[in-house]
Amino acid sequence: MSRALAIYPGSFDPVTFGHLDIIERAATLFENIIVAIGVHPTKHPLFSATERIELIEQVVRHLPNITVEAFDGLLIEYCAEKKASMIVRGLRVTTDFEYELQIAHANADIRPEIDTIFLPSRTKHGFLSASLVREIASHGGDVTRYAPPLVCDALVKKLAITTKKP
Ligand code: ADP
Repeated sequence: MSRALAIYPGSFDPVTFGHLDIIERAATLFENIIVAIGVHPTKHPLFSATERIELIEQVVRHLPNITVEAFDGLLIEYCAEKKASMIVRGLRVTTDFEYELQIAHANADIRPEIDTIFLPSRTKHGFLSASLVREIASHGGDVTRYAPPLVCDALVKKLAITTKKP
């Protein structure tokens, strides 16, 4: 079990400044972080897992202790497989807290040796979610305040493909 390894899981569809802030702060707390993209067979993300990995890799280039991977199945078993000791999650509003606490309790019930640490979002990112960014971008709105430039570019390209009429 490595005390030095934490996993930051999420959908990251796509990665936003809110996610990036959590990654940067977690990178100072742990020796190594795996940003882990959960792949759910029933969900239909805007960006494929490969695309999401590439976007995150590019925006964390300045951080040497971050790796990015996709996983499927139970997060807690993936953490055990990686020998991680900690799960990092971001907290925005109180509704996040209720959901996150239930998941943290369940994970601790399954594997008590793996703990969860919550980082509060910075005030300016408190309302920010990937779904909000997708929604605004899908209507042609400006999301440059919410996501790094290369993510904004990828959104424009992706939405041009997905909304193109046959
Ligand atoms: P989203 O809700 O943006 O779709 P994810 O499912 O990818 O996010 O969430 C991954 C993790 O990142 C979660 O712990 C979530 O609370 C956190 N997170 C997402 N957006 C922010 C933000 N703006 N500030 C802090 N944490 C965030």
